[in-house]
Amino acid sequence: TTPSFPYTHFLRQQAYIAGQWCDADSGRTLSVTDPATGQMLGTVPDMGAAETARAVAAADAARHAWAARTAGDRARVLRRLYDLMLAHQDALAELLTREQGKPLAEARGEIAYAAAFIEWFAEEGKRAYGEVIPPHAANRRIVCLKQPVGVVGAITPWNFPAAMITRKLGPALAAGCAMVLKPASQTPFSALALAALAEEAGVPPGVFNVVTGGARAIGGALTADPVVRKISFTGSTEVGRTLMRQSADTIKRLSLELGGNAPFLVFDDADVDAAVDGAIASKFRNGGQTCVCTNRFYVQAGIHDRFVDKLARRVAELRVGNGLEPGVEVGPLIDAAAVDKVAEHVGDAVAKGARVVVGGGRHALGGSYFTPTVLSGVTPGMRLTEEETFGPLAGIVRFQDEADAVAQANDSAYGLASYVYTRDIGRVWRVAEALEAGMVGVNTGLISTEVAPFGGVKQSGLGREGSRHGLDDYLEVKYLCLGL
Ligand code: ADP
Repeated sequence: TTPSFPYTHFLRQQAYIAGQWCDADSGRTLSVTDPATGQMLGTVPDMGAAETARAVAAADAARHAWAARTAGDRARVLRRLYDLMLAHQDALAELLTREQGKPLAEARGEIAYAAAFIEWFAEEGKRAYGEVIPPHAANRRIVCLKQPVGVVGAITPWNFPAAMITRKLGPALAAGCAMVLKPASQTPFSALALAALAEEAGVPPGVFNVVTGGARAIGGALTADPVVRKISFTGSTEVGRTLMRQSADTIKRLSLELGGNAPFLVFDDADVDAAVDGAIASKFRNGGQTCVCTNRFYVQAGIHDRFVDKLARRVAELRVGNGLEPGVEVGPLIDAAAVDKVAEHVGDAVAKGARVVVGGGRHALGGSYFTPTVLSGVTPGMRLTEEETFGPLAGIVRFQDEADAVAQANDSAYGLASYVYTRDIGRVWRVAEALEAGMVGVNTGLISTEVAPFGGVKQSGLGREGSRHGLDDYLEVKYLCLGL
């Protein structure tokens, strides 16, 4: 058994390139702060194009030997990484909460979830089966191979500092690719801790590199480099568009997991207590800062008042505070800009006729804390029905009939998650098929798991992460035509 260290043991303040811990060429650093206290936790190198180019070259040099190993060999290395993550779950969770703010219990959950992608893809890599196709001519034979795409550039956000990395790293390494990662500048320490554990697990130098620093410089270098064959990005639709544009010149493969605007539909026949539980889970987890968080509630007239009343009571009881304190359910938002956005969405809705049922403003704790809020009387055209709020704000629209609710739910440029509560099996199928979304939670507010394909339609992205489909995103199909 591996001893567990305090979180400071994993606080690496250097980047990781070609198996070396290193500083920026310029010597410059960026500081990382704890959103709960505003205090500085440490610094990371402020790297740019030159360091990124070195990381890409290291990945390119390392990928052939890594790909040439058997899938079983790669799986054993990944399995060690999984074991190490779980052995150090508490320390990794504390580090994550300190840089990101989420309650410690959620951070522990995220480490387990993050590790699960490594375990899943370690196994799935062994099943990257090709095909033998009945030929088109008697003297031909047709075989398809699955081969790794090559060097992958990954860019990840701050809301899941560990899991958004491993759902890319797991399939990439299992498939035989090498990776250069740029983590979010707000939460680079979880990424660097992962690099330290990958090193300990036996991931060879160059196979996994972490470059910290300016997003534009590093993203620009990754997208411009022809050696990088694929970009996998999780973040805003706006940045996804930029990366897609920048990748056009070198025709890269793209996996994009972008913004959402998840609708949550509650029908008259729903179990109201179950719907409230699902609403709390899908709306207030991570303070509302996940791309699958409900953004808009649509509740049918017959159940509306009961749902609003029960939800409001539960929301009023949510404990807000520093995520390190026991019992805290909602931590601080990531920064002041995030708080401003939630406040603007509340102000806009109220100005257009919505009613504050609970909360409605900044929290007495100050800083980047916001009081969990419920608004009723929400109508189309309010900002909170159109843009991702990314905060602890539940806005409720009342509706009369199913077709109208589905039409409103689909009236969005986004299509990531969606939720529906009803006990009518016919309605389950009708609504689930009609919703324009990559994922539908039916009578559940939690849908994320490594075993299922996660991803969006419309402007919520391209590709799927998790499940066997998540491995395909890192494989090319090569067809061999054999003449006899
Ligand atoms: P979020 O709202 O989650 O911060 P962003 O899309 O702004 O979403 O950021 C997600 C990730 O993309 C972060 O790692 C961020 O540093 C990076 N990023 C932001 N702008 C760019 C850019 N122009 N090119 C490449 N990466 C970027």
